[in-house]
Amino acid sequence: MSKHVTHWIGGGAHEGPAERTGDIYDPASGTVTGTVALAGAEEVGLAVATAKAAFPGWRDTSLSRRVQVLFRFRELLRANSDRLAAAVSSEHGKVFSDAQGEVARGLEVVDFACGIPHLLKGGYSENVSTGVDAYSILQPLGVVSGVTPFNFPAMVPMWMFPVAIACGNTFVLKPSEKDPSASLILAELWAEAGLPDGVFNVVHGDRVAVDALLEHPDVAAVSFVGSTPIARYVYRNAAEHGKRVQALGGAKNHMVVLPDADLDLAADSAVSAGFGSAGERCMAISAVAVVDSVADDLLERIRERVSRLRVGPGDDDRSEMGPLVTREHRDKVASYLESGVREGATLAIDGRVHPVLGGKADGFWLGPSVLDHVDPGMSCYREEIFGPVLSVVRVRDYDEAVRLVNGNPYGNGTAIFTNDGGAARRFQNEIEVGMVGINVPIPVPMAYYSFGGWKQSLFGDSHAHGTEGVHFYTRTKAVTARWTDPGQRPEGGVDLGFPTNG
Ligand code: NAD
Repeated sequence: MSKHVTHWIGGGAHEGPAERTGDIYDPASGTVTGTVALAGAEEVGLAVATAKAAFPGWRDTSLSRRVQVLFRFRELLRANSDRLAAAVSSEHGKVFSDAQGEVARGLEVVDFACGIPHLLKGGYSENVSTGVDAYSILQPLGVVSGVTPFNFPAMVPMWMFPVAIACGNTFVLKPSEKDPSASLILAELWAEAGLPDGVFNVVHGDRVAVDALLEHPDVAAVSFVGSTPIARYVYRNAAEHGKRVQALGGAKNHMVVLPDADLDLAADSAVSAGFGSAGERCMAISAVAVVDSVADDLLERIRERVSRLRVGPGDDDRSEMGPLVTREHRDKVASYLESGVREGATLAIDGRVHPVLGGKADGFWLGPSVLDHVDPGMSCYREEIFGPVLSVVRVRDYDEAVRLVNGNPYGNGTAIFTNDGGAARRFQNEIEVGMVGINVPIPVPMAYYSFGGWKQSLFGDSHAHGTEGVHFYTRTKAVTARWTDPGQRPEGGVDLGFPTNG
């Protein structure tokens, strides 16, 4: 049965006719399973107006009441996590257990946001001048929006809205049009949790909807996660329209393997972090910078593990890796295997011939692949592939590996594999990347830290969630106050001088 996914505005599904729609696919079979409404400026305007109307009431709702709603949302999320994971898996293609993991990592941010009363405490200084006190308060911004990518349709929105809403803002989410259903489940759960209508809204769409949000005068801030070209565009356009903006972009995550590393751990990590979620993770390992003396050994261990990997539909319990998200994306990823060989790399493992468990012929399949002897000048190295392809770059030593990573325009995640504590410590100090793993391949920070890369992996100065998230979704006000008891009015009368302490 074909579904139709529509917007969520003012606490319910938006029933108006859609001028434009997009198709939703089941990536494992390649068939269209439904349509999604694509918003124009009018629907976006309605969502923003609804969020704006809801703002004063939500801003002034006591912290205790806000937290009660968050706790109820948290419990509903736990109870509905499998339903959410199934929706993610069916539209994205990732295997069910991986989708469950994504929901669990989003839930962590809700856990974090439940502690918002502590996080919103300002400072207070008594007697900054005689009889004068000073204090700071953190206030919400108003209507804030989130624009999110296809690869984590539940988790990435949850990097944003639990914190934004806990801080007292109202929210308009524009999720990826490729897998839009998870956002509506989240909206339903908010309503069930007792969030007032209009505090959380969803508009589906493409560039038209995004532009309408970026240009809308009543949107105070934009959080974006997606590819680097669009992140750069969103950053510029939103800033041009006077908004606070954080725009997280693409990645090329390197794993550095030194000769003293535990090579079994390194091989397990390369395969897990390179091919989990079919490589469609912004923290996926994409390049393996391995010191030449252990490169052949590492590659053999990777080959052995890849040969056992089970690729198949996301809803098949046996599958460890699903299809890619669209046919176009699968073809683009596969094209890097050809260009890599053309430019001089060796195709050590060809995922195009990897068996697929019960996969339909028209599914968007591409098995795990490894290009060896990759050179930094090749397009498979320079560009973000965002699929199940590992590029092995052989390096002479630690210094060459660090130069390689630091010379790359992206700076999202990286990991070093070594048993030398000194080398690891040097690496954490020298490497120009926002999130670093030491013998840990996907160093995604916990919710109480903040997520974000450096260089072309992030435009703006705030990372997502954690205290940086709270900072992004609030603005501080500094108050200087004098309250006098009767008969204690300060002496001095009119004074046109600039106020000084005393
Ligand atoms: P994308 O940039 O194509 O789309 C992201 C969002 O922007 C979607 O909501 C989409 O509808 C919208 N969009 C697309 N084209 C647009 C345009 N021309 N103008 C305005 N909006 C537009 O990214 P994607 O393919 O959905 O996701 C994959 C990308 O996201 C990868 O590059 C990946 O590295 C990146 N990503 C980064 C992080 C991070 O934390 N840095 C996390 C997840 C994904």
